[in-house]
Amino acid sequence: MTRTDRTAKGARLSPGAPPSTAPLGEVELAEAPPAEFAVTCRYCHQNVLTAPRLRDAELARLRQHIERHRDHYRAPPTGVAAVLEHFTVAPAR
Ligand SMILES: [Zn+2]
Repeated sequence: MTRTDRTAKGARLSPGAPPSTAPLGEVELAEAPPAEFAVTCRYCHQNVLTAPRLRDAELARLRQHIERHRDHYRAPPTGVAAVLEHFTVAPAR
């Protein structure tokens, strides 16, 4: 019964306000599927991790992994970009 109430509320836009400012954040979240990224090692082609976002925890795991391939580089990579150079990042589905 409250459903018609919500629809009416959403359809009623105040004059002058662009439709894009309508507070539909929840709807937007439901429509966007959670994208995941598969991170594959360039040296051993192992899928090191799959995550929706590469944060500190994920980067730590990547750093740990490339320790195995020390033969391939002289200095340990410091920046995020330098770490990711050793991996292939592709959308997982
Ligand atoms: Zn590897």
